[in-house]
Amino acid sequence: NVITRFAPSPTGFLHIGGARTALFNWLFAKHHGGKMLLRIEDTDRTRSTQEAVDAILDGLTWLGLDWDGEPVSQFARVARHQEVVEAMLANGTAYRCYCTPEELTEMREKARAEGRPPRYDGTWRDRDASEAPEGIAPAIRLRAPLEGETVVDDLVQGRVVFPNKDLDDLVLMRSDGVPTYMLAVVVDDHDMGVTHIIRGDDHLTNAARQTLIFQAMGWDVPEMSHIPLIHGPDGAKLSKRHGATGAEAYRAMGYLPAAMRNYLARLGWSHGDEEIMSTEDMIKWFGTDAIGKSPSRFDFKKLENLNGHYMRSTDDAELLEHWKACLAHREDGKAVLDWMATGDNTATVLTALPGLKERAKTLVELTESASYLWRQRPLDVDEKAAKILDAEAKAILADLHKLLSGANLWEAGALETAVKAYAEEKELKLGKVAQPLRAALTGRGTSPGIYDVLIALGRDESLARIADQAS
Ligand code: GLU
Repeated sequence: NVITRFAPSPTGFLHIGGARTALFNWLFAKHHGGKMLLRIEDTDRTRSTQEAVDAILDGLTWLGLDWDGEPVSQFARVARHQEVVEAMLANGTAYRCYCTPEELTEMREKARAEGRPPRYDGTWRDRDASEAPEGIAPAIRLRAPLEGETVVDDLVQGRVVFPNKDLDDLVLMRSDGVPTYMLAVVVDDHDMGVTHIIRGDDHLTNAARQTLIFQAMGWDVPEMSHIPLIHGPDGAKLSKRHGATGAEAYRAMGYLPAAMRNYLARLGWSHGDEEIMSTEDMIKWFGTDAIGKSPSRFDFKKLENLNGHYMRSTDDAELLEHWKACLAHREDGKAVLDWMATGDNTATVLTALPGLKERAKTLVELTESASYLWRQRPLDVDEKAAKILDAEAKAILADLHKLLSGANLWEAGALETAVKAYAEEKELKLGKVAQPLRAALTGRGTSPGIYDVLIALGRDESLARIADQAS
């Protein structure tokens, strides 16, 4: 039975690379009908915060990635980690090292001076306990094999060979009794029954060291998949410089979780030429064999286009919920939310939504193109609209005001017929009539379909806005 895990360090938000790692673990587990566990690697007490834990859980939840059981705190398992260190001392795969910090520094400097990689020289590897100096608390080190090689048979990277002479006797527990991260990961993965480790390839060297610890305990080594990192559009490792790197920032930027899942899945994994894949499809098709070996590039344009697709295909009620979540996470969203919660405004928004979502790529664009609904009279008019509203346009608006005031039926088809008949009668191109109308109703040079706008605003507000601009 497949068990994967996502093991973030809670030192910041859920970054895009982490979100992709979580998604791959989730897809892999779902594909195999297994479980994905969540482990919070919070042993670094100075850098871990509850705020970061919350941000990570929130990011995963927003992305729709659930996990099995309660999140496991690595720090809470310290006693178990210490117990394993004791077991390793007992079976001879670990030993006590009494080197002082000064000696270790000296060792490193000597190696550097001789052009060797700084490595522990094995001083205490074979010394007897009776030689232990008094009053010095030892660190515990792994008795790593000196010869041969350690192989990581990686499902993505292939067979990766590490000569054992390059892997020194790593510290399992520091002299203050705190187990190291390297040990904790192995013990937790074992105890949690993890069968498959999927994580960033920056952990590949750790995989070799961790393999040695698994072997020292006689434990099965989980299958490993080390996935290439994500780069920015310019090819450099993805960083703040490339814009938001936290998953929750994408909610505020107006992306839909389904679009993010689809986009992130395609960052490093593919299924033929499929670009748009439902989550069900991804679960059906996901496997480590189709994960690429080279870094993928984060392409904002692609994400935007994909998001536009998902916005158009999401039903209006659901889209509205995502829209509200986006607004709730933006400074400038509160006022819009308040407006939506007033009177019939939610109904108005739902009336306008089909027309609005046709052209928006993000929920932020949706907010902008919907803003004609809540902006107050007299409307602020942007540059493009101001240009449209010349003397001729204002005269046309005066005519239209008269014409539309007389409309019996405030209904898109009827209004369209009336406006078209007017244009024909005056021998004006339709744009000559529609553009001033648009500018007057929305204060913008571009907007959703003008008849949709008339309906969403309703008769009184529409006529008032037209009158504001008419001569
Ligand atoms: N906590 C590590 C990280 O956030 C992941 C460790 C692992 O997946 O083994 O990079």
